[in-house]
Amino acid sequence: MCGIVGYIGNKQAQPVLVSGLKRLEYRGYDSAGIATLNQKGTATLLREKGKVAELEKKVATHKTADQVGIGHTRWATHGAPSKRNAHPHTVGDIYLVHNGIIENYQDLKAELIKHDYDFKSDTDTEVLTALIDYLYKDAASLLDAVSGALKMVVGAYGIAVLSVKNPEEIVVARKGSPLIVGVGDDEVFVASDGSALVGYTDQVVYLHDGEIGLCTREGVQLYDIDANTVDAKVEKLEMDLQSIQKKGFDHFLLKEIYEQPESLRSTLSGRVNTDTMTAKLGGLNMSDEELRAIENVMVIGCGTAYYAGLQAGYLVEQFVGDVTFNSYIASELRYRSFAVPKNTVALIVSQSGETADTLACLMELKRRGVRTLGVVNAVGSTIAREVDGGVYVHVGAEISVASTKAFTSQVAAIMIFGLMVAQAKGVGVKEISDYIRELELLPSEIEKCIVAHDKEMERLAKKYAQYEHALYIGRDTLYPVALEGALKMKEVGYVHAEGYAAGELKHGPIALIDDTFFEVFYLQDNWLYEKAQSNLIEMNARGAHAIVITDTDKRIAAEHVIRVNTKLHLLTPLVFNVLSQLFAYYVAVMRGNDVDQPRNLAKSVTVE
Ligand code: GLU
Repeated sequence: MCGIVGYIGNKQAQPVLVSGLKRLEYRGYDSAGIATLNQKGTATLLREKGKVAELEKKVATHKTADQVGIGHTRWATHGAPSKRNAHPHTVGDIYLVHNGIIENYQDLKAELIKHDYDFKSDTDTEVLTALIDYLYKDAASLLDAVSGALKMVVGAYGIAVLSVKNPEEIVVARKGSPLIVGVGDDEVFVASDGSALVGYTDQVVYLHDGEIGLCTREGVQLYDIDANTVDAKVEKLEMDLQSIQKKGFDHFLLKEIYEQPESLRSTLSGRVNTDTMTAKLGGLNMSDEELRAIENVMVIGCGTAYYAGLQAGYLVEQFVGDVTFNSYIASELRYRSFAVPKNTVALIVSQSGETADTLACLMELKRRGVRTLGVVNAVGSTIAREVDGGVYVHVGAEISVASTKAFTSQVAAIMIFGLMVAQAKGVGVKEISDYIRELELLPSEIEKCIVAHDKEMERLAKKYAQYEHALYIGRDTLYPVALEGALKMKEVGYVHAEGYAAGELKHGPIALIDDTFFEVFYLQDNWLYEKAQSNLIEMNARGAHAIVITDTDKRIAAEHVIRVNTKLHLLTPLVFNVLSQLFAYYVAVMRGNDVDQPRNLAKSVTVE
């Protein structure tokens, strides 16, 4: 799930590997390590529990001139976070780093024990290392041994492998976990994420699932799982140093909250037009006739991406007419016996484009012949490649583990898709023009809201940071905002926060209200205002510590009222959501949390 780096060239490998691992820190991890080889094949293995900074201290006292090496940040799946379980793992002649899970590791381990292998860690990774070592004894090359081992493995992996017998090569492979090879002048870099390569090279080869790469100083040769050669396509890495730096902000999370006006403008650019009142996405690969035929849309995602689907669905169904628009949690859907109605299109939503559960749903839908469209940020990612068409949200690198700018743009992108379906179905300009106009206004309205309320959210966080529980409540289009707001608070604030539909309060959660809870209540001055207000009054009557986020001037009884001045009506929920993000951010800061890399979380969830 986390980070892989590798280097072979004429530089000292250790600093390159450590700087690459630092770039990958944002993905969340619990331990780190590097292994380098000198020209004679003598290895130096350094591993530490905790931060890359700890590893760096160790490297400072164990410097080598080695020019080949691999490194890893681990997000433990099998075995506790510890030095013993940290990667690289070594068995016999092999050193290996691995992202993902080897599902059949227990069977393989039992076999290897029969061949006198013993194991020092609790990981699945060490078993793969031993398997390669075992096969290597009779194999013609490391490449053959890796290919033989991968044929026996069930699961997901991105790996980089070294052998002490040949310090002139690194073998890499992937299935379900990203792996990129950067090609420089007489040097080759390996990374699980482009951010580790920025500044070193912008010429990259994205490995596809099932491919193995043999890296030498001269470049990379790709093979399929049977070791037949495959052509490598060198592409330009679309990432720059600017996008992966904090630019004066204390945290990436705050920077990314502030970036939303700009990132949203990139999502909308060339796609919505208020002169012609039209919406258009270039990459759907669907004719008007095909769009017109759509009767059912399934939106699939995990976490924030799932909520983005839910949020967009509430909005799109207001104008799209006779189309059902439902959102699904990918990890649930993949094991359900669901039926797909005819004329269905599936929207596959994932910031990284690598989310394992979402990808599994995509593959199942493809197998069933359903048309799939991606709503993805990472260009060239697996989901982006596997779908029939789709839309890149273009928000730039999202480094903070908790997603902010991707959410806003995912909602916007799905709405644009909904508008295209509506247009194709002949829904009148009158019905959709307000949505188009508001989409265009949204970036500046978000900007205005951040400027007006940043300090207020900080003050509020000071007041509420001590609470351990919270309810987030909204009705209709504000219900997904409540869910996403609570998720943000859980992720970075570590506050037990639950989102509820306002009408559901009386059916259970209202029993929770006491002095250990605060309640965030989203209240919009629209046709449901009175209904929602009654829910607020019911809560107040039970001693709620309510924080109301609203766009109304009317009198409201609550412990704290945040009044948002906006020209929007339909898309106001997306502006309110930015306040939830700021609130969670400041609570996290007050509580002294690791804001950008919250405990136990990883940025791109490439395992089930
Ligand atoms: N399954 C491996 C382990 O627990 C790899 C984890 C990762 O992806 O970082 O060590």
